[in-house]
Amino acid sequence: MRKLAEMLNTRLLAAQVNELAQRERITATLSIAAIAMIGWVHWDAVARLPIVAWSIYMSAVQIMRIAAIGILSRRSPATHNVLLRRNSQIVINVLNGLGWGAIWFVLDTGRIDFLFMFKFGAIAGTTGIALNSLSVILPVYLGFLLSQMGLMTLYLLGSTPFLTPHQQAAFVTGTVVYTIVLCAIARSTARLTKQAMMHEMEREAALIEAKESHLRELDLRKSLQAQSRQIEEANQKLNAANESLQVLARQDALTGVANRRHLVEELERNFQTFHRYANQFSLILLDIDHFKRINDVYGHHTGDLVLKATTARILAGLREIDRMGRWGGEEFLCILPNTGLEEALACAERLRRDLASAALVDSLPALSVTASFGVATCSQDDSIDTLMGRADKALYEAKEKGRNRIVGISALD
Ligand code: GH3
Ligand code: MG
Ligand code: MG
Repeated sequence: MRKLAEMLNTRLLAAQVNELAQRERITATLSIAAIAMIGWVHWDAVARLPIVAWSIYMSAVQIMRIAAIGILSRRSPATHNVLLRRNSQIVINVLNGLGWGAIWFVLDTGRIDFLFMFKFGAIAGTTGIALNSLSVILPVYLGFLLSQMGLMTLYLLGSTPFLTPHQQAAFVTGTVVYTIVLCAIARSTARLTKQAMMHEMEREAALIEAKESHLRELDLRKSLQAQSRQIEEANQKLNAANESLQVLARQDALTGVANRRHLVEELERNFQTFHRYANQFSLILLDIDHFKRINDVYGHHTGDLVLKATTARILAGLREIDRMGRWGGEEFLCILPNTGLEEALACAERLRRDLASAALVDSLPALSVTASFGVATCSQDDSIDTLMGRADKALYEAKEKGRNRIVGISALD
């Protein structure tokens, strides 16, 4: 907190020094013209050497004012540099003030005359004009004012035997009052300038802060948008993964057709339709004959090929509305909607013939398979278990009777 206050003070002083430098350049340049004029006015009235010496001294001080601004303003704005700039301005302006105050002694005519009054006018003018530039930093102006007014008061009190005591008192009082008035004006000018600079600095700081927070907000908004895009993409991927997971969960990995779980769902749906609309449906449960032998003779891989080829051949023999899946091992279940027992038997016969008619695997033309079929049709009192039980029983009978055949069991049997 103290550090921050210090920093603000340094920044304020730096702003004051900069402002002073700008105003100093103009007044110092104008002062050179004023000095030349004062020297010129006194040229015939006092000794030439003091005039020349005074003019050279005063011009040197003005050049110092300008040079100091140029040299010191190039330094970094560190606290010690800023203080150096201010202090050097105080010293230079004390020298300046002493020079102006010295005109009373150096350019003294020893009487009240035009030049005496001219010097009053010149001093009033310089202190008034300097008020505008130097009071940006109060000590600089006070250094200038008090040094010259001090010398002037000394002169009025000690080197003016040509004045009556009454006149002397009036001049001194006037000088002191004028000095006090200038001090008061300088003090309020310095305060007002300082406040204006402070406001300007605060306004700039607030502007910078507002810009920065706006940029931060933009960044935040961008990253939020990017994040929500990422979340959206992740959600889409998740949904896709869920969908494919659902498909996989209901699909047989080897043959790609419905698995037992999916088939049970299909059976439930068909039972619902049957109970609501009396749409009869039939089942064909088929089991490849002596499949174990195929595995044993040709190997497990060929067994898999046979399972896939059998799937394709059965699918080819079914209607589009029929559902077919792998019930387990080398057993397949076909669900035939809107189909009675007779039609289902005919369908099974077609499938049986298709399967037995030609070789299944291209690379093994000698390998042919047959299957046994159990057919059952749903009835009012059936559940999945009873209907499947009947199909299973029929399939068992087909096996018993010598395989490669079809047995249908009606609900009445
Ligand atoms: P049946 O005529 O009485 O049906 O005789 P089977 O040999 O076909 O029946 P069994 O139940 O004795 O043998 C079935 C074989 O099917 C045994 C099992 O190793 C095989 N099997 C089950 N699933 C797969 C599979 O995914 N791939 C392969 N290659 N073989 C399988
Ligand atoms: Mg079998
Ligand atoms: Mg079997």
